[in-house]
Amino acid sequence: MSAVQAPEPFTERSPWETAREQLRRVADVVGLDDNMVNVLLECKKAVEVSVPTRMEDGSVQVFDAFRVVHNVARGPSKGGIRYHPAVTLEETKALAMWMTWKCALMELPFGGAKGGVVCDPKALSVRELEGMTRRYTTEIINQIGPEVDIPAPDVGTSPQVMAWIFDTYSMNKGYSVLGVVTGKPLQVGGSRGREEATGRGAAFCTREALRKSGRDVDGARVAIQGFGNVGYNLADILSRWGATIVAVSDSTGGIHAPGGLDVQAAAAHKRENGALAGFGEGDDLTNEELLALDCDVLAPCALEHAITRDNASEVKASIICEGANGPTTLEADEILEDRGVLILPDVLANGGGVVVSYFEWVQGLQEYFWKEDEVNERLNDIITRAFAETWRTHEERSISMRQAAYAIGVGRVAEATTTRGLYP
Ligand code: NAD
Repeated sequence: MSAVQAPEPFTERSPWETAREQLRRVADVVGLDDNMVNVLLECKKAVEVSVPTRMEDGSVQVFDAFRVVHNVARGPSKGGIRYHPAVTLEETKALAMWMTWKCALMELPFGGAKGGVVCDPKALSVRELEGMTRRYTTEIINQIGPEVDIPAPDVGTSPQVMAWIFDTYSMNKGYSVLGVVTGKPLQVGGSRGREEATGRGAAFCTREALRKSGRDVDGARVAIQGFGNVGYNLADILSRWGATIVAVSDSTGGIHAPGGLDVQAAAAHKRENGALAGFGEGDDLTNEELLALDCDVLAPCALEHAITRDNASEVKASIICEGANGPTTLEADEILEDRGVLILPDVLANGGGVVVSYFEWVQGLQEYFWKEDEVNERLNDIITRAFAETWRTHEERSISMRQAAYAIGVGRVAEATTTRGLYP
């Protein structure tokens, strides 16, 4: 789990407004009628709970927490749990909606969900974190389950947190329920390759996008905002493939190394010190400066709304790989689109995480675990196919990659909804 920090207040619309407006815009492309749009614009269920937690000093702190299910037309809902001070119900709803489109784009038999606890996990001891996680799990125990809603890690949560969720749920049931949560450590039913999966999927998308313009990952210059699960693994994989990682950052600031960063050394420094700040190599730079760096690929892998109308015109990369969910505002999207920047949208670029979460769920249900090569190969197949479908739609219909990806995802969910019919 990595250091997190509350972002600046949103200057444009909120992520929930962004997500809803994206759906309205894509509804025209897909040709959805108003009844369908009205159904998809809402979340199926949103649960708000309070999570009293015993602190080290004996006091009790009460945390606000949520679990939101957006849609289950294609199967049980799936989505991460975020621990961050800026978590809100509305943000959780946006993230749940994006999960619905992502699962459909990847052709997984899942709907979309998300959860969050308003807390600063950095400020909690391990015991406090465990107590909070176990109480949160208990508060939402009737909402989750292997056939109902399956959580996973997101910002501020780790395989250890998933292990506590798995254990709490299992202790309440009286037997081990591997399929209740994904992103678990290997010792308790995790999947090989899950930890790196989101970064690996983003790396596959970057490779495909570079190929489309006759370029190769080898020699590409990449800047990455966010150095947690997604950002670090993306940097690691791309650098192994020969890319030059010219900058990385976390909530404490960034490092600029035009000749290429030693990703492993930066990761070791962050592990030891809890932050990138103070890493000796390269020059310091701010998160704003990172977004404006001269490079081929810019990968925002931190939080929503990093690229806004105020900084979109400063971006120099020709490809943006959205490792984070919702890192680009609608206004920034339009500016970048006009400037011919190719955006690999979140639902495509970070879909690798939920794909391997799906593999973990399947392996857990079957109690039969795959080799790492098998996991990575199947991930490559799914991401490459989703990229190709999105690219084809983008070209054939002359729409952006975002519109194309959302059109495919939303179209599949609408089809499932129509086929199932309205109950009762
Ligand atoms: P993480 O907690 O492991 O890492 C988050 C990183 O972002 C940390 O390095 C943190 O310091 C940095 N950060 C926080 N605030 C920042 C700021 N204002 N400026 C720059 N950096 C900042 O989280 P993660 O799992 O890597 O998730 C990152 C993004 O990827 C989120 O949008 C998440 O929803 C998305 N995502 C994650 C997964 C997954 O499998 N973990 C899957 C799909 C999408």
